[in-house]
Amino acid sequence: MKIVILGAGYAGVTAALRLARISSRKADVTLVSRDARFVERIRLHEHAAGRRPKARPIASLLRGSRASFVVGDVAAVDTAARTVTLDDGRSLAWDRLVLALGSRPDMTAPGAEEHALALDGRGAAELVGRLPELARRRGRVVVVGGGLTGVEAAAELAEAWPDLRVTLLTRSAASAGFSRAAREHMVRSLERLGVEVVTNVSVRELERDRVVTTDGSVAFDACVWAVGFVASPLPAGLSLAQSARGQVLVDAFLSSVSDPNVYVAGDLAVHARPPAIAVPMGCKSAGPSGAHVADNLLREIASRPRVAFDYAAPGYCVSLGRSDGVIQLTRADGAFEGAVVRGRVAAWIKEMICKSTIAMLRLERYGLSSYAAFRAGNVAPALEAPRAASPGALGS
Ligand SMILES: Cc1cc2nc3c(=O)[nH]c(=O)nc-3n(C[C@H](O)[C@H](O)[C@H](O)COP(=O)(O)OP(=O)(O)OC[C@H]3O[C@@H](n4cnc5c(N)ncnc54)[C@H](O)[C@@H]3O)c2cc1C
Repeated sequence: MKIVILGAGYAGVTAALRLARISSRKADVTLVSRDARFVERIRLHEHAAGRRPKARPIASLLRGSRASFVVGDVAAVDTAARTVTLDDGRSLAWDRLVLALGSRPDMTAPGAEEHALALDGRGAAELVGRLPELARRRGRVVVVGGGLTGVEAAAELAEAWPDLRVTLLTRSAASAGFSRAAREHMVRSLERLGVEVVTNVSVRELERDRVVTTDGSVAFDACVWAVGFVASPLPAGLSLAQSARGQVLVDAFLSSVSDPNVYVAGDLAVHARPPAIAVPMGCKSAGPSGAHVADNLLREIASRPRVAFDYAAPGYCVSLGRSDGVIQLTRADGAFEGAVVRGRVAAWIKEMICKSTIAMLRLERYGLSSYAAFRAGNVAPALEAPRAASPGALGS
């Protein structure tokens, strides 16, 4: 079976490493991504504040495995001919396609694309270049978005650059979905770091040097846009059922509801019929979903029935600079009302979790299954009867 995996983030690399355990006589696994290096997206706020990213070539993450790696931008997919075309014209044939193209910052607000910096590789690199000069003249950085990413970015920038004036603008309260204890700790930490938190403002648009809100405008020297993520665009020719956020609708087994030969993992996937606790976007779910897609493909190859993805996030970790943080555990029903860990211990746990995302990939490379289901029983209702593969239809 020829399996092509598009996107080498947490989901795609995990899927490739797990699939590559199978004998090359049974499956031929190719991972494709535009980046030759693994982008640790969960550390982009640290990199934006000036911490140098570790070089992690994807080829070395895959070293010793049977997966091939191709660097290239995916331009088009032909589901009838079962081919992927890269922007330089190269073409790859597949029997099963795994989409793991991830997400990107939502820059759809008027003026955001032109005047704000996103927390992506390009935005982080631009901030690194500008922050020393901005700090020297006590410039103002406005972070828009009071979710986890906005809070982490504001804290990180304020801690690394104490002379910078950092303002966090949020539509409701900072990290509104968290328990009261977690929220109070975040607000206290932001205050300690000198971040001005402006709550209950709606941004109307961005101009070159100011954020225009429903309550007036806030001037900035640099604006970091952290209002959330939308799915990465699908390559031309791939017309699959999608949600309003652009995510591909999948069944309980993580295959596209429009094309059973296409599996989807990570931020790009969303259940067409969600389980009791919706699977959040995040590296916490991307790795397990990549592993699960690989396991279902291995089951198909072995003509065994596929298994529904069973996952619920056990908790959420927020860094507040390098020596403070919050861990919010969830209750069995998914509510953000479980135990809260704060301060240095939380910062240490968060750092261990960030390190573990890379350690998990190494474990996969050595043939050890890195992810177990975090919570049994959180399975999406089936849309169809479980399918057993007919290997004869799959090619070699
Ligand atoms: C600052 C920040 C902090 C975060 N903190 C956390 C956290 O604490 N916990 C958490 O769970 N999540 C966190 N996240 C979210 C997390 O990073 C994402 O949910 C995760 O990266 C999704 O993994 P993925 O494998 O689905 O996609 P990605 O990691 O986005 O990887 C997708 C890959 O596909 C490639 N690609 C896309 N389109 C194409 C194309 N057309 N051709 C070729 N290649 C393509 C991309 O270049 C990329 O390599 C954070 C994100 C940010 C930005």
